[in-house]
Amino acid sequence: DFKVSLPDLGKDELGELASSIHKLANDLERLQNDRNEFLAAIAHELSTPLTYLIGYSKIAMREGIREEERQHYIEIIGEEANRMKDLVKNLLDLARMNETAFDVSKETFLVRPFLENVCKLVASSYSLKEIQLELVCDAQLQIYSDRTRLEQIVLNLLDNALKYSNENAVVTLKAESKNGKIVVSVKDTGIGIPTEEIDYIFEKLYRVEKSRSRINGGSGIGLAIVKELVSTLGGTVEVTSKVGEGSTFTITM
Ligand code: ADP
Repeated sequence: DFKVSLPDLGKDELGELASSIHKLANDLERLQNDRNEFLAAIAHELSTPLTYLIGYSKIAMREGIREEERQHYIEIIGEEANRMKDLVKNLLDLARMNETAFDVSKETFLVRPFLENVCKLVASSYSLKEIQLELVCDAQLQIYSDRTRLEQIVLNLLDNALKYSNENAVVTLKAESKNGKIVVSVKDTGIGIPTEEIDYIFEKLYRVEKSRSRINGGSGIGLAIVKELVSTLGGTVEVTSKVGEGSTFTITM
């Protein structure tokens, strides 16, 4: 038998103390779970493209396979390898963001040639899909921003617009000046996002249920990075969407 003497706390204070300890324990547990879930999701995301790479390279090396077929498998191998590269790049970015503030170096540059270049980059990694990519931007428009970061933002948004569109869809990338601010938007005519899920899509690892099963699915990291980068550049990001009609992501800086 032993007695514990507590500091002179009133009943209410003790209750409060107990509940804050309880809350702390819950928070810690949740953090740990998030971490495990995050790692499991990453492992899963990396193992899917690896399975394709291994499987398709075996098929492509088979004797007697038709040349077009071999070409087709090699194309898939290239796409999957690109997907892995993007994922690893995104993960590294995310890790860096969690450390301290990452480098931002701003300069003034013309928006149109910059966006043309981003479009070229995107078009080269989407060879298999027939999607129309339109650019609307005044040739004189200038912005004071960080090229690398802005490129990452636009690439991620375009990547989603293409990923969540069906063939023959139209994706419009637009930049304009409004009330002294630069507004960049990415509009697609794709699958859209259910209203009740819109608030969550910027969270790490969040994926709308339907997208999970899509072959071209991602990892739920892209938009978390977009949000982080946009706020670092001093801007805001908004989204409007309608299921079956498409989505528009708008960045104001
Ligand atoms: P992911 O790698 O899954 O694309 P993101 O963080 O980029 O991760 O996006 C989170 C989720 O938001 C996606 O899984 C998808 O469900 C939804 N989403 C994002 N962009 C679009 C879009 N343009 N059209 C439809 N759904 C989208």
